[in-house]
Amino acid sequence: MQDLTIEGFTVAPGERLRAQMSALELADGSSVQLPLVLINGARPGPRLYVGAGIHGDEVTGVALVNRAISAIDPKTLAGSIVCCPVQQPLALIADHRIPVSQYLKSPLDQAPTDAWTCFPGDPDGNIAQVMAATLFRLISACDAALDVHTPTRGGRYVPIAILPHPNLGAPAREAERMAHLLGTGWIVRGERGMYVADGILCVEATKAGVPCFTFEIGEGGRLEEDQVAIGAQCVTNLLIGLGMIDGDPVPPAETHVMRDFLGLRASRGGLLVTDVPLGAPVKAGDVLCRILNVYGDEVEMVRAPQDGLLVRTTTLGSVSRGERVATLGLL
Ligand SMILES: [Zn+2]
Repeated sequence: MQDLTIEGFTVAPGERLRAQMSALELADGSSVQLPLVLINGARPGPRLYVGAGIHGDEVTGVALVNRAISAIDPKTLAGSIVCCPVQQPLALIADHRIPVSQYLKSPLDQAPTDAWTCFPGDPDGNIAQVMAATLFRLISACDAALDVHTPTRGGRYVPIAILPHPNLGAPAREAERMAHLLGTGWIVRGERGMYVADGILCVEATKAGVPCFTFEIGEGGRLEEDQVAIGAQCVTNLLIGLGMIDGDPVPPAETHVMRDFLGLRASRGGLLVTDVPLGAPVKAGDVLCRILNVYGDEVEMVRAPQDGLLVRTTTLGSVSRGERVATLGLL
């Protein structure tokens, strides 16, 4: 086995290193430091990139990655791991999806604001583009990658693997195999929408030959022990499945492979009451949630327009017209 060398950091076989990598300079001269965990196994195997927290309120993702990674013994690991548990520290500081202070200061120059959508990035671009370019160097140095998220505040997902566009050839097929190894029980293999668009981390990684998918779990702005435990087990399942660590994976009782998401929006404003539990199968016409006006009158019943699975709920207490109130996974 050889040393693992990433961005000037060197890790001997069978060793682990925590490092900080300067990503960009701020107005006061301080620099944004990307936290890294580099683990070099004692046996040959793949090099896996594991990232979380590219959105600053997705702390359950940060915690579950750390739990899974910290349990690895470098002396028995096959291959190596490049982990960045907080991929956008400026957003974590803001406790918001995006680095709000930079955006509010300079809305024009800092748009686009979300590094997740800016891959492969641009080292001469704005903050989001520079961060994406820096992360993409780490990702490109690996054989496969995993990008961990929760929905942003006010939303809640079942643990779900969301694949890059299936037309990306062999790397996309490998990403799909990895998603099954993760073992969440929920997989979306879609061909349209945000998750498969150009610029998204897993899409650009897969295009570049590094199989990658998005893993969503839990809820933004909340650190939930049960979701951390589930998510860490899923990452451990993936490491076992890739042959990097020994152990028995914990597979789901059933795996739902879905072809698309269908987001449903409120047509009225008011208080939101969700009647169907997260993950439940629903039939066309079923009432998913209701909207009550400020006098307590029911002004809307949001029904499923077709059969599906309730994969994402809105946990906000109130909504305006046009806000998303539920998302179905379509089989
Ligand atoms: Zn996210």
